[in-house]
Amino acid sequence: MSASMIPADVAEAQILSWVQPLDPERDLETIPLFQAMGRVLATTVQSPLDFPHWDNSAMDGYAVRYADVAEASAETPVILTVVEEIPAGKTPQRIIQSGETARILTGSMLPLGTDTIVIQEETQRQGDGVEILAAPEPQAFVRHRASFRRAGDDLLAAGLELHAPEIAVLAAAQWAQVPVYRRPRVAILSTGDELVMPDQPLQPGQIVDSNQYALAALVQAAGGEPVPLGIIPDDPEALREAIAAALTQADCVLSSGGVSVGDYDYVDRILMELGAVLEIRAVAVKPGKPLTVARFPSSEPSPGQRVAPTLYFGLPGNPVSALVSFWRFVEPALRKLSGRAAGWSPVFVEARSQQDLKAGGQRETYLWGHLASTDQGLTFSLAGGSHSSGNLINLAGTNALAVVPVGTRLVAAGNPVAVMLVGRIGKY
Ligand code: AMP
Ligand code: MG
Repeated sequence: MSASMIPADVAEAQILSWVQPLDPERDLETIPLFQAMGRVLATTVQSPLDFPHWDNSAMDGYAVRYADVAEASAETPVILTVVEEIPAGKTPQRIIQSGETARILTGSMLPLGTDTIVIQEETQRQGDGVEILAAPEPQAFVRHRASFRRAGDDLLAAGLELHAPEIAVLAAAQWAQVPVYRRPRVAILSTGDELVMPDQPLQPGQIVDSNQYALAALVQAAGGEPVPLGIIPDDPEALREAIAAALTQADCVLSSGGVSVGDYDYVDRILMELGAVLEIRAVAVKPGKPLTVARFPSSEPSPGQRVAPTLYFGLPGNPVSALVSFWRFVEPALRKLSGRAAGWSPVFVEARSQQDLKAGGQRETYLWGHLASTDQGLTFSLAGGSHSSGNLINLAGTNALAVVPVGTRLVAAGNPVAVMLVGRIGKY
């Protein structure tokens, strides 16, 4: 256990090293391909088919024997007899002999006897015959069977996140049901006597538990299944019970609030009482310094229960701090936990700041705002309004966090700054 502040990149690397991904066998489920968007392939899948499935034409034109047309030119065209027409989906019926050709359309099967396509533009149709007006390259415009992928070879690797391109490949290979990792279950607890649900009347001194909703949305966006467990009062007994219950039903537990050094901040104490190893207690970032990361040792395997050690994140209660901590530290862990083979870490890009960015210089400072692709390249605009970590109102519209490094107090407007992506960039 260390009470010292850990640099953000070190904390991220440590957290990733503690994550044990879901098990490719125990945590596998088979789902219809239509539901596969964003899911993670649990098994490397092989191609059951050759791609292309047969030699076929890449163009509309005529399938020929190359030897027949090797000498063709506009001055001395070669005339071939058109013995068949092969639209897409039709099997050729004839073996093409010397002096013959078949009319062929894009994607159609090459008839036996032919090896080359002459494109339509270099021909002149004459009734039952066709004039070939130029000599093609040998094997021109033929897509050869298995030249893209051979049956039995690997098609897509385990750990790949499925999006439209991969889903198209799976569909083409007739993988109508796909083996994916189940979504990791992430329990979410909010701690604090002052919290109420959005649909409850608000008494003086109370605030709404926005973190539960924000964290559930973030978990979902990261491919997890949020398990919202509600508001837990600042009472050690209630907290112990809630955390113990969360551990039995989740692969990862998030709580917000109660990790500072205030009189009612019980989370760390309870975690230790429950047998956790407290690995991180503070990170050198602003906002989000109080961050508890704890590991619960493996439990006895029992049906439905997770065997691997469970990771616990005690996030700060401030709404902005909670989000920043999630983006910077929890999301990479969930991406690894979910079985993705790579691409766990946040993406940082360089952008030109539109305003002065001010920081204390002691901790890596994350300033929220908007990253846009413009004619001047990537630009970062600081969110308007107060940059207090208690102000969540100006978080709306945030798609990026500018990162001011330790030791820097000012990034002047117009200068480059590293920006961490937390949403989609638009073109402006
Ligand atoms: P704490 O970390 O418990 O000291 O909380 C820090 C600040 O964040 C306090 O002002 C809390 O009222 C606020 N806060 C704590 N939890 C939540 C929550 N779930 N939703 C919104 N604000 C919260
Ligand atoms: Mg609190």
